[in-house]
Amino acid sequence: MAVGMPRGPWIRPGVCGGRRADPWTRSPPSPGAAALMLLLPVTMFHLLLVARSGPARLLGPPPYLPGLEELWSPWALLLCLTWLGLQAALYLLPARKVAEGQELKDKSRLRYPINGFQALMLTALLVGLGVSAGLPLSALPEILLPLAFAATLIAFIFSLLLYLKALVAPASALAPGGNSGNLIYDFFLGRELNPRICSFDFKYFCELRPGLIGWVLINLALLMQEAELRGSPSLAMWLVNGFQLLYVGDALWYEEAVLTTMDIIHDGFGFMLAFGDLAWVPFTYSLQAQFLLYHPQPLGWPLASFICLINAVGYYIFRGANSQKNTFRKNPSDPRVADLETISTATGRRLLVSGWWGMVRHPNYLGDLIMALAWSLPCGVFHLLPYFYLLYFTALLVHREDRDERQCLQKYGLAWREYCRRVPYRIVPYVY
Ligand code: NDP
Repeated sequence: MAVGMPRGPWIRPGVCGGRRADPWTRSPPSPGAAALMLLLPVTMFHLLLVARSGPARLLGPPPYLPGLEELWSPWALLLCLTWLGLQAALYLLPARKVAEGQELKDKSRLRYPINGFQALMLTALLVGLGVSAGLPLSALPEILLPLAFAATLIAFIFSLLLYLKALVAPASALAPGGNSGNLIYDFFLGRELNPRICSFDFKYFCELRPGLIGWVLINLALLMQEAELRGSPSLAMWLVNGFQLLYVGDALWYEEAVLTTMDIIHDGFGFMLAFGDLAWVPFTYSLQAQFLLYHPQPLGWPLASFICLINAVGYYIFRGANSQKNTFRKNPSDPRVADLETISTATGRRLLVSGWWGMVRHPNYLGDLIMALAWSLPCGVFHLLPYFYLLYFTALLVHREDRDERQCLQKYGLAWREYCRRVPYRIVPYVY
């Protein structure tokens, strides 16, 4: 199993304690959670508006404030719901494999279908058939704003239903966080760990499918519109589409790896993940392609080749590091990792201290950040806007790395300290 997927695209708000209480207790609202619930959708709409504006200024006011008539469209809502329905139907198709998740509090393990890549392929086939039958995919960029609004609305309503569902869930089904008794905080973070109806797992479904596949579909629609406008897609647009398709394809190919992530094992399913998966990922991660549609950038082959090289280096590190750790965690005697140097810990698990994990303590984050840079470079260097993802992602991974280090210190104690002594840098060798 190998890890590496976009997910949990959030910086967690300040923890307000792990105490459990009556969920209807009227404790004061958590300002961090409430602010993020407002700030994140506002940021997303700001980016969508600015990307299509002439100056494309990341900092500064949006070009105008859209009225409700520009945001709300029942057709956009219907389209989003159809998309979710299609992805849910693909999720329910027979899977090439059914994997078991980590052990839960009650010692049971949940089962998950591994058919995300199949869903991507079938979606591609359906979209291809649709386009050849006259489906106007290139018109999608025109309705990104109402689509994003509909996705946000769905995320809010869905989170509310998840919250209500969690009220009747047994204590053993609740997440370690998200059960503080503070209504807003718990709504944001999510109360239940693995909300399901029968075998349909909502969090697992949302983590990698509608949003990620939706992201590459939006990218494709932007590429097609550019071809209509300018005769053919630009080289820059091809690069952005290709790089991000590789990233999404990789995440779905190695789908099983999501089962050992913090998002699945640790975090409840609430607004944070629902909005992140369903709205933030497809509408903000496609920012570079949106920017390129409205601000074409000349790009020659020499520079394009150099950017491809940067992406290839990033992907090589990202995939190598994730695969190495996952091979090791699955079977430490696997010949591919058996010769690597390790540190023993009191838990019986060992820590890699050579190979990728001997270079820095999170080499997979380094690879991810290098790829993020390669996604922005085709957009030129005269606008900050296409670099939003790189900036946001750096902040996210620095925060995530810190959170993971604290958890590892708690888990492995002195062995973790020894690891930090042997591998002093966190993400970037000799820098951080
Ligand atoms: P990691 O895959 O880095 O997992 C961290 C865990 O790995 C630790 O908790 C520890 O768990 C184990 N570990 C740490 N050091 C070692 C070592 N030396 N030897 C063996 N095991 C070790 O964390 P994430 O889940 O955060 O990231 C997975 C991927 O997803 C990354 O590539 C990341 O870049 C990407 N990602 C992408 C996002 C996006 O929005 N695009 C968002 C978040 C992540 P244990 O010991 O219990 O096994």
